[in-house]
Amino acid sequence: TNATHDEEASAKAAAASADSGAPTIFDKIITKEIPSSIVYEDEKVLAFRDINPQAPVHVLVIPKARDGLTHLGKAEARHGEVLGQLLYAARIVAEREGILDGFRVVINNGPGACQSVYHLHLHVLGGRQMKWPPG
Ligand code: 5GP
Repeated sequence: TNATHDEEASAKAAAASADSGAPTIFDKIITKEIPSSIVYEDEKVLAFRDINPQAPVHVLVIPKARDGLTHLGKAEARHGEVLGQLLYAARIVAEREGILDGFRVVINNGPGACQSVYHLHLHVLGGRQMKWPPG
């Protein structure tokens, strides 16, 4: 139907613009032009509290250099090291937040997963019983 075509067209347009590689709000969080509540930081990685938390603990872990990683779907072999650093930083965050016994790490990839910021980020969620399946 036309409605389906319109939906497909707008979804494709949203995906195309979302994936454009334009600067995101996270650039300003990295430079601290926009303040955030930082949980962990090193040379390569920044972890800060989500402004709209979905659990008592909700921290975003991002690479300081996006380096083409608008989303996980753009990952290449050369990104292996930073991907590992992000996952290890998620574990440090979980320890600092006292949720090592139960936490979840989420990456929303693309429009079909409601990704809203196109700078790769891990969500670290915990502090309550996490349910499965997720929404
Ligand atoms: P996504 O939906 O792309 O997986 O996750 C993006 C996350 O970034 C959302 O959970 C949203 O609440 C968070 N977010 C968006 N803008 C800001 C901001 O300016 N500061 C902080 N701390 N979090 C933000």
